Amino acid sequence: MKISDILHKNKTSLSFEFFPPKNAKASEQLFDTINKLSKLKPSYISVTYGAGGTTRGLTNELVLRIKNETNLTVVPHLTCVGADKDTTFDILKAYSENGIENIMALRGDMPLQLNQLNQANQSNGIITPFKDFKYAVDLVKFIKKHFPNICIGVAGFPEGHHETPNVLKAMDYLKEKVDTGADYICTQLFYDNRYFYDFKERCLLSDINVPVIAGIMPVFSLKNMERIAELALGTNFPAKLLRTLKRAGSDSYNIENAGIHWAAEQVRDLLDTNTKGIHFYTLNKWDKIQRICTTLGIKDSFQFR
Ligand code: FAD
Repeated sequence: MKISDILHKNKTSLSFEFFPPKNAKASEQLFDTINKLSKLKPSYISVTYGAGGTTRGLTNELVLRIKNETNLTVVPHLTCVGADKDTTFDILKAYSENGIENIMALRGDMPLQLNQLNQANQSNGIITPFKDFKYAVDLVKFIKKHFPNICIGVAGFPEGHHETPNVLKAMDYLKEKVDTGADYICTQLFYDNRYFYDFKERCLLSDINVPVIAGIMPVFSLKNMERIAELALGTNFPAKLLRTLKRAGSDSYNIENAGIHWAAEQVRDLLDTNTKGIHFYTLNKWDKIQRICTTLGIKDSFQFR
């Protein structure tokens, strides 16, 4: 089913994001997890894509397996970094032929090796590792042109994107993605809901009228928080959250509980304010996400129909 239809029919969507596992054993474990989570009747699940094509085979394999072996709606991510038109066309064609109706179109961040190569190339006056697609909007355009029936999601950044400090310009670029054909926006993670609510208002003021899904990534450990800060540059970790984690001291279980509690409070507030969708970045840690849902009395996504 198309995400645009799901969002249209339901008050709130509930979705989960996974990254593709690196080997066969991990793949089986993840698939077991996905089967378990089916009980929550997720509105959809999404599978990330390593920018530069680093997980191309793994992502495609997992997506098609989910499609063929479950009745879940699956959304593959696709990125611009290192991508050329022919390969991108082939990936989209294979998805299309297998009944995949949705794509999350992203620019992607350069993997470390590509980033180093890019810097070296730039100092030698050579072109960057972007081939045929420089920004996500180029990918949206390409999908719309060749596969007009695919429903497209794009990323939005409630706290801004580190490469575009001019926030007015950032909204213009977001609008360009939507005007080009994106059907919905899924946000970057955030730990203070006020950023999300303000972002939604700014979308409306910019005449961006597609549904906005809130991205939630619980803090599971201090190491995990440091990694999040690296990956989602510019994310604010509120003092209240940091104080809570500090109180938890060095006890990893207490820290995990504190992080889960914080995320649950965020989701409770988002549900109370009729947010169109909640998207969990699961980091493949399903049991912890399930705890958040249980805490909030969520039995399954059908409750939000
Ligand atoms: P874009 O929309 O292309 O924006 C990138 C930057 O360029 C921004 O600063 C933007 O303001 C600026 N910009 C856009 N258009 C223009 C223009 N015309 N001129 C000048 N500047 C412009 N990464 C992965 O590698 N794999 C994944 O699977 C993945 N999944 C994600 C899922 C979600 C929901 C989110 C929020 C992020 C995900 N990311 C993923 C990370 C994402 O790719 C990075 O955060 C990336 O830096 C921005 O991606 P984008 O699609 O928003 O890019």
